[in-house]
Amino acid sequence: MPELPEVETIARILRQGIPGQPAIISRRILEANLLWARTLATPNPEVFHERLVGQVIESSARRGKFLVFGLSSDWLLFHLRMSGDLLVRPAGTPPTTHDRLLLELEGNLQLAFNDARKFGRVWLVDEVDRVLDGLGPEPLDAGFTAHDLFDRLQGTHRQLKPLLLDQSFLAGLGNIYVDEALNLAGLHPLTPANHLTEEQTGALLSSIRSVIQDGIARNGASIDWVYRGGDFQNYFRVYQRTGEPCPKCGTPIARIVVGQRGTHFCPHCQQLST
Ligand SMILES: [Zn+2]
Repeated sequence: MPELPEVETIARILRQGIPGQPAIISRRILEANLLWARTLATPNPEVFHERLVGQVIESSARRGKFLVFGLSSDWLLFHLRMSGDLLVRPAGTPPTTHDRLLLELEGNLQLAFNDARKFGRVWLVDEVDRVLDGLGPEPLDAGFTAHDLFDRLQGTHRQLKPLLLDQSFLAGLGNIYVDEALNLAGLHPLTPANHLTEEQTGALLSSIRSVIQDGIARNGASIDWVYRGGDFQNYFRVYQRTGEPCPKCGTPIARIVVGQRGTHFCPHCQQLST
């Protein structure tokens, strides 16, 4: 499942382009072909088509795990969920098996939303807050400090792993980057949030930022989904490395299940304080 670094990479590639794939910024949407109606969260298909066609894509950004495109007069948002992906192709390319939405763009391009498992969603709204309102802070936001995080942690005794996966607590993290950050910070995934000291909180925030920035620098991780191009999966510390040595101490990585999510940690570096 794509997390912050993967979604950030997609937003950047669509914004800037890469060799062989032009940017989509400043291009007008000439036609929209919705192939799977339930992909569209809002509005209904008729209003979607009527409002969308003719608008220009002015920006491509990320908030949490959402892709956020600023249009001439609306916002177009995508959540990729399990298997969603956005692909740029030559204009008029016939739909492939798992395409859910095709946008024909100025400059002989097509933007295709492909989603094998159909959990991905698309919104066209006049205010982004209608969709993004419930999201917690951005971990890379310089205005979000260790003191802010400490205050938020003190307000709950929830365990760190499920808490950090909760998008209303902190936006953008998923199973991979939470496991990586907790290992780097030396914190057990089942630690109650309000047991953390200020020092541990500082270590947690800098570890979260470190693994996210490493992920972005490597264009994300190509794992569990159709995302192509990133290679952060070759640098995982603990995620899906059960039995392999901890990069810090060499103890075999353990796996437990927390809230139905496979959770990887070092039993030596990440002990549960009593
Ligand atoms: Zn260790």
